[in-house]
Amino acid sequence: MTDTALSTRHVPADLPTRIQHYIDGEAVDSLDGDTFDVLDPVSNQTYMQAASGKKADIDRAVAAAKKAFDEGPWPRMLPRERSRVLHRIADIVESRDARLAELESFDSGLPITQALGQARRAAENFRFFADLIVAQSDDTFKVPGRQINYVNRKPIGVAGLITPWNTPFMLESWKLGPALATGNTVVLKPAEFTPLSASLWPGIFEEAGLPKGVFNLVNGFGEEGFAGDSLVKHPDVPLISFTGESRTGQIIFGNAAPFLKGLSMELGGKSPAVVFADADLDAAIDATIFGVFSLNGERCTAGSRILVHRSIYNEFVERYAAQTKRVKVGYPHDPDTEVGALVHPEHYDKVMSYIAIGKQEARLVAGGGRPKGFPEGNFVAPTVFADVAPDARIFQEEIFGPVVAITPFDTDEEALELANGVKYGLAAYVWTNDLKRAHNFAQAIDAGMVWLNSNNVRDLRTPFGGVKASGLGHEGGYRSIDFYTEQQAVHITL
Ligand code: NAD
Repeated sequence: MTDTALSTRHVPADLPTRIQHYIDGEAVDSLDGDTFDVLDPVSNQTYMQAASGKKADIDRAVAAAKKAFDEGPWPRMLPRERSRVLHRIADIVESRDARLAELESFDSGLPITQALGQARRAAENFRFFADLIVAQSDDTFKVPGRQINYVNRKPIGVAGLITPWNTPFMLESWKLGPALATGNTVVLKPAEFTPLSASLWPGIFEEAGLPKGVFNLVNGFGEEGFAGDSLVKHPDVPLISFTGESRTGQIIFGNAAPFLKGLSMELGGKSPAVVFADADLDAAIDATIFGVFSLNGERCTAGSRILVHRSIYNEFVERYAAQTKRVKVGYPHDPDTEVGALVHPEHYDKVMSYIAIGKQEARLVAGGGRPKGFPEGNFVAPTVFADVAPDARIFQEEIFGPVVAITPFDTDEEALELANGVKYGLAAYVWTNDLKRAHNFAQAIDAGMVWLNSNNVRDLRTPFGGVKASGLGHEGGYRSIDFYTEQQAVHITL
């Protein structure tokens, strides 16, 4: 490591040098003793070893979770009792938000202020499901003179939770909250690039009073024979909630098929932001800048394709490029930083390769490589390509970094065709002051979520999920409760 990397890296105090699995209430190593290196994205130096889980470790974790489900109090506790534990979890997460953000930012390269927002969102996820589970009501139907039918909602068993490296702690909470609230027990397999923040869960859960064996954590890789694959193929895990790449989702879908598992798939995206001529241009530019460059562009719902009406196209591109050049790239721990370091050198290489492809395919108007002043680490200047053709790879493929493609359109029909002309369908953003056009256009877009004249902010009650290659099923609010429970219909003859 050079002096620059050493002097610019902010190393949190008491950083662990080794993390283990957490199985049946105990921190344990892999049975074969294997570990893997964890790097920090500013220096790309190994700072920690994490236990590398295999099938044998998953077997242990699933056995503990199954025992806790079959014999433990958790699935049988009153919703109010589970809710109290979840509220305590939320309180503890909130009280440690600064430490969580510091660790997350160090491990993932996310700007510290944004990591703090994600830590708070994680607490909110637990609080939300703690409330929802006690407010939950189920249907009862009376067939006069003949029958009463009612729904008996039950937890399903051991839920396998597999998560990606972007906003890791928050995305884990998004699955852990509802899975635990509904009375399931869990095995979490966090992303191998960013295992640090997940190592805080055991302490948080123990302090909140979650019974032993209800939460289990196995670190490691996803591929065949490793932790992720073994979890998907374990016969005692009836549910898999997965967030990650569409290609990985396809593999998991195939591997889970022989077991007929319940699957929730939150996958990739290449979401359009459509800017009509009558839009509030200032607001549209601010929001579309934030929409693709926040969270380092490593955001599933990033508005990474901007479609702009030709009558305002030149002005939009010019202003957008100028504003992009003012986005502050910096060290992740600096509170002024708006774009930090990408998570890992492998991902950095992928994003840089798309920038090279983009230079062949389109007109570069901002960024385009490593920013000045950052000779090392995974730093990428916010990058804007204009005049991007719809068959260009940078229009079609998910880059998952601070790179945006801008394309002009002439008519509403053409805008819709461009918006829908990719394999993904996660989110869409529409900017227009014409109310009728806004609603008609939003409803015609192939996307699980649409934002009209607004930033990417969502209430936790709304469904979250994508269509086409962006996912299968929805989580969020009651849809999460539905995914993690069995709805048994009981019929009584009067
Ligand atoms: P990834 O698919 O490479 O990995 C995700 C997780 O799956 C990791 O924990 C990994 O170890 C595991 N895994 C890999 N192969 C596996 C296998 N064969 N069986 C079981 N588990 C396996 O994704 P990533 O690179 O970590 O994350 C980025 C992707 O996640 C992007 O495509 C992004 O759009 C997507 N994402 C989607 C959402 C959403 O809600 N739709 C949210 C965040 C991220």
